[in-house]
Amino acid sequence: SGLILNVVSLFAPLTPLAIIAKKRDQGELDAAEIETMIDGFVGGTIPDYQMSAWAMAVLCRGMSADETAALTRAMLASGQQLQRATDRPRIDKHSTGGLGDKTSLILAPLLACFDFDVPMLSGRGLGITGGTLDKLEAYPGYNSQLSQPQIADQLRRVGCVISGATDELAPADRRLYSLRDVTGTVPSIPLITSSILSKKLAARLDALIVDVKFGSAAFMRDLPRARELAESLRATGQRLGLTTRTLLSDMNQPLGRMVGNACEANEAVAVLESGGPSDVRHLSVRLAAEILLSQRRYASLDTAQQAVLSMLDSGQPRQRLEAMITSQGGQFFQRLPTAPAYEVCAAGSGWVQAIDGQQLGMTVIHLGGGRSRLGDTIDPSVGLEMLVRVGDAIEPRQPLVRIFARSAQAAEAVTPALLAAICIGSHPVAPLPLLADN
Ligand code: URA
Repeated sequence: SGLILNVVSLFAPLTPLAIIAKKRDQGELDAAEIETMIDGFVGGTIPDYQMSAWAMAVLCRGMSADETAALTRAMLASGQQLQRATDRPRIDKHSTGGLGDKTSLILAPLLACFDFDVPMLSGRGLGITGGTLDKLEAYPGYNSQLSQPQIADQLRRVGCVISGATDELAPADRRLYSLRDVTGTVPSIPLITSSILSKKLAARLDALIVDVKFGSAAFMRDLPRARELAESLRATGQRLGLTTRTLLSDMNQPLGRMVGNACEANEAVAVLESGGPSDVRHLSVRLAAEILLSQRRYASLDTAQQAVLSMLDSGQPRQRLEAMITSQGGQFFQRLPTAPAYEVCAAGSGWVQAIDGQQLGMTVIHLGGGRSRLGDTIDPSVGLEMLVRVGDAIEPRQPLVRIFARSAQAAEAVTPALLAAICIGSHPVAPLPLLADN
């Protein structure tokens, strides 16, 4: 009977504690163990503190391709899948997260204008990066928690939706994402891969493009790690049957000029009105063109980009954004109100050598534009406008940043951190290229 007991305990499923310890000790988890963690967490039997410890063990020890695929499957299986709403192909673009990245607000309506369905299941701010849902909630009344039938209905009427993972669709990601945000467990290749792909698989996409960011304001600080993440996304996507393309884009400085929820939404609208900063415009056009190419709508990148540019200039995507926001209960504003502006000026002269995105992101959180604890509320009107970029020549007293803050004291409190984040040196440096090779 002792032997039988031993055999039974050998095959008994591991407890959450044992699974955490196995990962901590560099073990490879099998699919059943990964399901135990995900199902237990979603079902409420595994508390936040155990899930946080597990996420930290995954971040430190990594996961194999098999584990990453099993995790993605378990997270997908935590919910339902979005039913088909129309005959149009379903596509989406996703970003691994950056500072000032407002391209989702541009891409969703833009791609819908090319006769695709775009069901974007997005997230909130994670770490120092802003979240698409937080940006859209700057429009009063915007409902980012649509039910499945509401998403299907809006796809039929408008062609695009930007909503959160819900209790129905990828609930595991919704819960794990907010836990990772406040436990330092964001920059893990398997956790990011499964987070993104579980949502995209739940949306039953035909094709996906992921904008993988690298640099000081990205989860992947350097290009090699970003390439690894891109490879993990493509490979895991392929194993689970979703065609996934990737683009690598620079995040060593914010994308565009604006950082903060309302001001970023305003900048996205400016791009949809044929204006806006050239980097936001260029990246949006390239991302849209790549997905059009993957769907064989055009023969070359060049013709696809031309088509995207003329669509942007037609004004239709701008109208589509407004239709999407109003359909989701939001009140659309051409320009959302922002908090009063205060300028920070350079002390001396030189050239901008580097911009510390982590510091900038922390500044926005301090101003009230992001979260430092689970459930913190966000002030959409605060933020930053970057008036300089890496490589710019600087004169003494030249304005470097405009702070949108609730009070002069709040602006003053973040000024030293902002000055420290913009590194000015005495030798010229080249501007940063926006894209890198995959
Ligand atoms: N975007 C996601 O959806 N999930 C992550 O983990 C990181 C970026």
